[in-house]
Amino acid sequence: MKFNPADNIQDLQYFGEFGGVNPSISDSSTYTFLSAKTMFDTFEGNADGCYLYSRHSTPSNLYLGEALAAMEGTETANVTASGMGAITPVLLQICNAGDHIVSSRTIYGGTYAFLKNFTPKLGIETTFVDITKLDLVEAAITKNTKVLYCESVSNPLLEVADIKGLSALAKKHHLKLVVDNTFSPLSISPAKMGADIVCHSLTKFINGSSDTVGGVVCGSQEFINDLRNVNDGACMLLGSTMDSLRAASILKNMRTLHIRMKQHSFNAAFLADKFEADGLKTVYPGLESHPSHQLFKTMMNTEYGFGGMLTIDAGSLDKANELMELMQHKNLGYLAVSLGFYKTLFSVPGSSTSSEIPENEQKEMGLTDGLIRFSIGLDNDIERTYNMMKACMVEVGVL
Ligand SMILES: *Cc1c(COP(=O)(O)O)cnc(C)c1O
Repeated sequence: MKFNPADNIQDLQYFGEFGGVNPSISDSSTYTFLSAKTMFDTFEGNADGCYLYSRHSTPSNLYLGEALAAMEGTETANVTASGMGAITPVLLQICNAGDHIVSSRTIYGGTYAFLKNFTPKLGIETTFVDITKLDLVEAAITKNTKVLYCESVSNPLLEVADIKGLSALAKKHHLKLVVDNTFSPLSISPAKMGADIVCHSLTKFINGSSDTVGGVVCGSQEFINDLRNVNDGACMLLGSTMDSLRAASILKNMRTLHIRMKQHSFNAAFLADKFEADGLKTVYPGLESHPSHQLFKTMMNTEYGFGGMLTIDAGSLDKANELMELMQHKNLGYLAVSLGFYKTLFSVPGSSTSSEIPENEQKEMGLTDGLIRFSIGLDNDIERTYNMMKACMVEVGVL
């Protein structure tokens, strides 16, 4: 049967301890043991099903992790306090001093800053490449390389990674392929195409209500055990643990993810078509004009569409700012970073979420001053929204 991430989530069944339709929330930081021996065994890492201390794991966190592992088709998952709290332990778990990472150059600003400014302090170096060019990726691999890192759909340029191609390279050179799938939950299933580890910022589409940060690492049981190891596990020791109350609330929001993603994708595709027809420079993976449109089609779980993210170029930073302020004034969305909210969010990445990337590098990768990144909301009547957005664009002279 064909892998379907939403069906996999649906097939899980949970009950609370009194038969509640939602699992009970584990409101404890520590857990009792019936025997002292079991406590010892748990510290040694061989008492399956026992809870020890909430930085290690909790029932609520395990429930959410199971749902996310079902979504990505991995053996298991570990939820974390934020997306960065998932990505950074993964890289620090795999890499030692002297190791090397080959990363896409168009990635989330925080991840870029971590690899560019932070990990060199630990003796871990990164080469940034155009991830859409597999020959350049392979040429950057050295004898010290341990990780290939990319986003399935990149932030903010919406470049699409050839996950099967990257996975073949990773296997050939004995590397781990780590994929951040934050922009394309359900639409793309990286682990099914050979990614070893899939990370998400749950803060975005998966939670979908912009009320918390959260993250997850999906991978093999062995790797997740390593992350949680009390002696040398990066999640356990760096402490980016999710709180149980929050895990419970994210799990409830996740139940509507498939419906939301379809609507985000439908609305974004509608607007992208219209904006492009109006003559705006528009980037959306669902457009024929997108350089990786065909590639995305070969990778996607079709029914969830091409995602809710699109960019337009307003020509200059001033025009972009003027347009965003007017759209906010007309209540078409919020001038805010982040994504995956019910309402449209827009920002100018060059001077905000990607400002960690130096100007000359921004230029080289095609990140222009006037580029507006949209996370398209769940608007009921997207044609009405389009007409109102178009009026704003005409008013500020972008159209
Ligand atoms: C937001 C984001 C992150 C970081 O997640 P936080 O939850 O903010 O820590 C990582 N990757 C991508 C693609 C993101 O959009």
